[in-house]
Amino acid sequence: MKHLDVIIIGAGISGLSCAASLIKNPLCNNLKIGIFEKQNRLGGRAHTIKYNNTNFELGAGRYSPELHPNVHQLTIDFHKEVEEFPFIELKHKGKHITFVKNTLERLRRIKPPNTETSFYNFLCLNVGIKKANLIIGVLGYDSLYLPYISVSTGYDIIEKHPETQSLVGHDKRQWFNLKEGFSSVINSLKDLIEQRNVSIYQEHLLHNIVYNPDRSTLSFQTPNNQIIHYNCKYAILAIPPSFLDKIDPQFPKAWSQFNYESIPLFKSVLYYKQPWWKKYKLEDSIYILNNPIRRLYFKSDKYLFFYNDGKQADYWNKLVSTKPDEYIDQIHYLISKELNINEAIPEPIVHIEKYWSKGVEFSTNYSDDHPLVLENTQQNIIACSDAYTSHCGWMEGGIISGKKAASVLLEKINKAHTKQSNLALAL
Ligand SMILES: Cc1cc2nc3c(=O)[nH]c(=O)nc-3n(C[C@H](O)[C@H](O)[C@H](O)COP(=O)(O)OP(=O)(O)OC[C@H]3O[C@@H](n4cnc5c(N)ncnc54)[C@H](O)[C@@H]3O)c2cc1C
Repeated sequence: MKHLDVIIIGAGISGLSCAASLIKNPLCNNLKIGIFEKQNRLGGRAHTIKYNNTNFELGAGRYSPELHPNVHQLTIDFHKEVEEFPFIELKHKGKHITFVKNTLERLRRIKPPNTETSFYNFLCLNVGIKKANLIIGVLGYDSLYLPYISVSTGYDIIEKHPETQSLVGHDKRQWFNLKEGFSSVINSLKDLIEQRNVSIYQEHLLHNIVYNPDRSTLSFQTPNNQIIHYNCKYAILAIPPSFLDKIDPQFPKAWSQFNYESIPLFKSVLYYKQPWWKKYKLEDSIYILNNPIRRLYFKSDKYLFFYNDGKQADYWNKLVSTKPDEYIDQIHYLISKELNINEAIPEPIVHIEKYWSKGVEFSTNYSDDHPLVLENTQQNIIACSDAYTSHCGWMEGGIISGKKAASVLLEKINKAHTKQSNLALAL
């Protein structure tokens, strides 16, 4: 059995932000801290790839300094070069954008029948099913159909996404990418943490915890199917709720009065020899298509990508895994049809896609009293995730929750120290 004082599970932005906060505090100077990650890379849902000297984000890619001050601060601290995210005004084939804008503005003044009314039902009640479908069709985010997306969450989604913000009066909010991608922030966090002697163990899958108020035992599976046991005084589970569910059968009941769900996401990037879309003046524009592609982005003259959620994400994942030969033809067919491109689109040189089966995780009954971290009844294990914050689906939420987990842990360590000192004095 190996020993550590603090174990952090998950090397996404939540776990790494938590570790970065801990090492700043002198209380942790003499503690042995380890981070365990099941994959052979760090970053979780922040994952930048490079092709032909251009970076592409398979996961998290954009942030707004106004909405995401913690992300912004990280980019400043690590001197990251930013570039403007150009996709802040969507285009749609039909001439419905003004209708959608006016309707959203008008409906905002109408109170829903109750707080549980879903955004989609609210639209149906007020404008009928056909127009409700048209509105979500134009918005391009299919999660807006889900029964547990309330009216206020629906408006929040529209307001806080760069592509749709202009439809609810936020035309001016700026958004940025990182030139080197968000994996470069992950690498900077890793360097910072390792300089302070935090050990990072990749390809260690946590599969079991035996709780003990003094020292819990965590068991990990390594690539050669070896099982390694570590015990620790404190553990932080910086893994999303759906992973926690697999490790602890008592989740969420023993942890929270809230319930959690997830939505799949799919992103695909295509690189061509020539930027054929230049001829159609499509550079730096985003189109919402009325077909499974949904959101189509033309990134300058570099590449195009599409990005969707829910059933469409499942559709593309199935197509690319079962009928890879039809994949590109289908994409080209759907783009040509919707954008009236009458000539054959050339074959891409490379295409890369990523299906995130649990792309966004969130609480289905979220309210302002949801704690930023969860603690189980044993009190020495803390869980953090963007899903526990009002910024679910955003790195900002991961950083906020990760930092909070660090402060809760430091309080526990402080209390334990005070107790020990008092005992020593009494003796
Ligand atoms: C396609 C996509 C686009 C996005 N776009 C944006 C965006 O533009 N801007 C933005 O701010 N956010 C965006 N997000 C959301 C953002 O990526 C997440 O909010 C954030 O990365 C979550 O960080 P996390 O550390 O909480 O979780 P994760 O990044 O999921 O990290 C959890 C880590 O835990 C590891 N893990 C899980 N289970 C175990 C286990 N049992 N043992 C060991 N390790 C384990 C995982 O491998 C992972 O590395 C996007 C997400 C996706 C998928």
